[in-house]
Amino acid sequence: MRRKLAAGNWKMNGDAALLGELATLAGQQADTAPEILICPPHPLLAHAVSVTDGSPVGIGGQDCHAARTGAHTGDVSAPMIAATGAQAVIVGHSERRAEHHETSEIVRAKATAAMAAGLTTILCIGESEEERLGNDTLKHIADLMHASLPDAATGDTLVIAYEPIWAIGTGRVPTLDQIVETHDMLRDELVGRFGPDAMTIRLLYGGSVKPTNAAEIFTADNVDGALVGGASLKAADFQPIIAALAAS
Ligand code: PEP
Repeated sequence: MRRKLAAGNWKMNGDAALLGELATLAGQQADTAPEILICPPHPLLAHAVSVTDGSPVGIGGQDCHAARTGAHTGDVSAPMIAATGAQAVIVGHSERRAEHHETSEIVRAKATAAMAAGLTTILCIGESEEERLGNDTLKHIADLMHASLPDAATGDTLVIAYEPIWAIGTGRVPTLDQIVETHDMLRDELVGRFGPDAMTIRLLYGGSVKPTNAAEIFTADNVDGALVGGASLKAADFQPIIAALAAS
């Protein structure tokens, strides 16, 4: 049985008001809710950990370097994220791949470092619109996952987030059939690579998840939750998504 996960990615948003939203969100959770994570910008990690202390809401980073320490100005390592009390980190988000030219090889090294630091690692993959319209969409997504995925991945250490690039921040979402087809394919690929243990690896959908579409998306068997950007910034938007996941 895979525990459902609602993860919020604040991207480069975060201030005292948003920490207030986080406190509100933390106060709204029942112990029986799905696992909940919020990933604020790195300077807010320690604050966010203290705001959510004692609540079921966990905190994660949005990226990490593959090295533990060294001459990498502006970067943050996985052990540094863990030292704030955070328990997770996103790697391979399409905005990192595009804006910071992160290849799947780099993403895989980051995921390896994050898992070694004991962080739940949310590995993002997804296709561009051009790739979605092409003939080999599913093969492209599978190839991207395999190239980014460390061999040591397990259901305890790793979560995959399928995020079509064209759906991120656009208000557009794939059809439910497309989500089902893609997640079922990812599950088959994971089982093919890791064996039956891969049934425990959680698969999140991400890309314009909102209170209005979450319940339908969560009907898919191999959708174990969501990675949510814009709608994770306000407790009033994120809470109905958590509720829809809990009810699914
Ligand atoms: C994201 O950035 O991971 C994301 C899914 O964003 P949004 O929900 O805003 O589309």
